[in-house]
Amino acid sequence: MSADIATTDPVSSTTLVLVLNAGSSSLKYQLLEPESEKVFADGVAQRIGEESSSITHEQNGQSITRDRKLADHQEALEEMLSLFADNGTDLTTVGLTAVGHRVVHGGQMFYKPTVVDGDVINDIDKLSDLAPLHNPVALDGVRAMRKLLPDTPSVCVFDTAFFHNLPKEVSTYAIDREIAEEYSIRRYGFHGTSHQYVSGKVAEFLRRDVGDLNQIIMHLGNGASISAIRGGSPVETSMGLTPMEGLVMGTRSGDVDPGVLTHLARAAKMSSDDIDKMLNKQSGLKGLCGENDFRELSNKAAAGDEDAKLAYDVYIHRLRKYIGAYMLTLGRVDVITFTAGVGENASDVRADAMGHLAQFGIKIDPDRNAVRSKEPRKITTDDSGITVLVVPTNEELSIARQSVAAVEA
Ligand code: AMP
Repeated sequence: MSADIATTDPVSSTTLVLVLNAGSSSLKYQLLEPESEKVFADGVAQRIGEESSSITHEQNGQSITRDRKLADHQEALEEMLSLFADNGTDLTTVGLTAVGHRVVHGGQMFYKPTVVDGDVINDIDKLSDLAPLHNPVALDGVRAMRKLLPDTPSVCVFDTAFFHNLPKEVSTYAIDREIAEEYSIRRYGFHGTSHQYVSGKVAEFLRRDVGDLNQIIMHLGNGASISAIRGGSPVETSMGLTPMEGLVMGTRSGDVDPGVLTHLARAAKMSSDDIDKMLNKQSGLKGLCGENDFRELSNKAAAGDEDAKLAYDVYIHRLRKYIGAYMLTLGRVDVITFTAGVGENASDVRADAMGHLAQFGIKIDPDRNAVRSKEPRKITTDDSGITVLVVPTNEELSIARQSVAAVEA
C-alpha cells in the first residue's frame, strides 16, 4: 500500500468511491474522493482461500492486520466492511457514490465503464474463459458488493478498454481466421487504465494537448506492458489475448515461441493447465532466478548471483527491443514515460533501458534519473530530442473517476 492516507473523516466528503481490485487470491481496496484525490482508507487481503490469509487495513493514521482464514472474496469483503466499521466508517450509510471494480477482461463487448445490472454480470461471466484467474473473482466482488451495499451502484472498469480500437493490423494474430473468430482470439491489451491515466498526466506535466503528442509508456510493475500512443489513441501495446504476451514480468514469461508450448505438451506431456501455470506463475524473473520482487533481484545481482544478473539482462533486452519497435511504429516520438513499481523506482532499469540512445535523440541526465520522488519528473537533459519522464500511475483514482462519470451519465 503506497497511498498517503488522509486523517479526516470521509463522512464530510461529497463524492466517495470504494475501488476494488480483485486478483486471483488477493483483494486490494481504496476509499477515496476523486475530486480532491484524498484517500481515506487503503487495504489488501492476501492469500484468500489459503489457511494463512490475512487482511491489512490503513485508516486514520493506523494500520491493522488481521490474520484469519478468508475462504473466498465474499469473506474478504465482509472482513473489509468490519474493519471500516471498527474505524468508525459504516460503508452502508457513508454515502458512497459508487463501487468501482477493476475487471481485467472486457472482451469485444465492454470498452466503456459499465454500471452493473443483471445482464452485465452474465455477459462478463461469458468472458471468464479469456481471463480465468481474474474475471470470475472480479465478478464475485461485484455480486458480493451488490448484496452488501444494495443501494450503491457498482461500476466495472475494464483493463482492456483503452485498447479497444487498436488498428486491425495490430490486434490481429496471423492465425487461421475462422478459428480466431470462433474463439474471439485477437490482441486486446491490458493495463489500459494505467496507460490512459499516465498518458493524460504526461500531457498535463508537459502542458501540451494529449492529441498533439506521440508517446511510449512503459508500465513496469509485477505485470509489465508497453504501449505506443499517437495523439491519445493507442496504436500498439505489448499484451495480447491475455496479459502474458510481451515484456518479461515478475512471474510471467512474456513472449515465447508458440512452438515451446506444443513441444512441452508433446515432450513433457504437460497439460494446458500445467503450461498455463508455468507461464503465469513460474516464469519471468522468478523462473530465471527464483525471485519475482525486483528489489530482491537487484540485491542478488549486486551480490554476484549469476542467475539474477541474467534475469536482469533478459528483462532489459526485451524492453529495449520493444522500445525500438515502438519508436519505429510511431515514426516521431515526443515523450517516453516510465511508470509502476519498477518504472517509478528502479533508476538502474531506466538508465539501462535508455542508455546509449543519444543517436536516436535520447540523452538521460544521471542526476535527474537518480531523484526519488512521488511526483512526475523529467530524467532527460534539456537538449535531449525526446523527453523521458517518470510519472507515477494511479489506477484507483482513474477507476474512481470513471465510475463517478458512468454513474452520472
Ligand atoms: P507494482 O506491481 O506496480 O506494485 O510493482 C511491483 C514491483 O515494483 C516489484 O517487483 C517491486 O520489487 C518493484 N519495486 C518497488 N519498489 C522498488 C524499488 N525501490 N526499487 C526497485 N523495484 C521496486
